[in-house]
Amino acid sequence: MTDTNLDWKNLSFGYIRTDFNIRSYFRDGAWTKPELTSDETVTMHMAATALHYGQEAFEGQKAFRGADGKIRVFRIDENAKRLRASADYLKMAMPPVELFTDMVRQVVRANERFVPPYGTGASLYIRPVLFGTGPQVGVKPASEYLLIVFVTPVGPYYKEGFNPIRVIIDRDHDRAAPLGTGHIKAGGNYGASLTSAEIGHEKGYPSVLYLDAKEKKHIDECGAANFFAIRDGRYITPKSHSVLPSITNMSLMTLAAEMGLQVEQRVVDYDELGTFDEAGSCGTAAVISPIGSIYDPENGRTFAYNDGKPGPWCEKLYHKLRAIQYGEEPDTHGWMTVL
Ligand SMILES: *Cc1c(COP(=O)(O)O)cnc(C)c1O
Repeated sequence: MTDTNLDWKNLSFGYIRTDFNIRSYFRDGAWTKPELTSDETVTMHMAATALHYGQEAFEGQKAFRGADGKIRVFRIDENAKRLRASADYLKMAMPPVELFTDMVRQVVRANERFVPPYGTGASLYIRPVLFGTGPQVGVKPASEYLLIVFVTPVGPYYKEGFNPIRVIIDRDHDRAAPLGTGHIKAGGNYGASLTSAEIGHEKGYPSVLYLDAKEKKHIDECGAANFFAIRDGRYITPKSHSVLPSITNMSLMTLAAEMGLQVEQRVVDYDELGTFDEAGSCGTAAVISPIGSIYDPENGRTFAYNDGKPGPWCEKLYHKLRAIQYGEEPDTHGWMTVL
């Protein structure tokens, strides 16, 4: 059953308290049995490595209530693997895939009444977060970690239809170094992006497009989402060490290939921006945000796509992935875990 006291259609992407979160502690070399709790706070040592040395990584995924009333979670195992990759690079304890998936299932079930009804466009956002809690003053990995998974209902990303966004190029800041942490979901990357995001917002652009940090010649990440473009029957998306491997993008590449597009994951030159038929950014929050235009303040150029309307391939891919997530179309790839 769904809780009827919430205004599902008007939820924002904020935090709403739910009944439970779930926790597992890494202590003495082992993970504890996950415990559900209603406590929203964390008590930890002031010398915890998460606070001083950035030993922190997170995930973002969603659960959907389908047309058949069942709850489905999208590609849990991929988020588990990516959190392990983040943990590995930051030298944190790596949660086993089974522990992670068990915690996600348990916490969604325990908060079932917060999974929005089918048809509202809302969903249950799932936020796993892993961080070093053990004290350390020397620059060293902690010996203790905490993995928490909490959930919060979020509203439909597009309240007034599928709207293209305006994007600005930022050459003055990088979110990640060429051989740095861009490929993992570390909170530090987000800290590093807040200044450019705020400058973008002040100028009226909801998203910032980053060029590669070394040469500023190639397309890298689009805010906290992957960039992709469509040209002559091809789905083109940047290959770069500093781009986070988006599970949405990975899924869109599969769907694009099935729909007959040729998929190219490769270095994408800045000069190609003027040649695309469609452009978009993708990630869990919106699935796809079609890009209406990209402004480059350095030379005053604006690259515009599809007369400011969502392109046909952006529309098709968006609807296809959403239909799979809401159980409206068969899940031929085994992406959905039905709870
Ligand atoms: C999370 C994230 C994405 C999107 O990944 P999804 O798995 O599709 O949600 C893209 N870029 C960055 C920088 C991210 O942190």
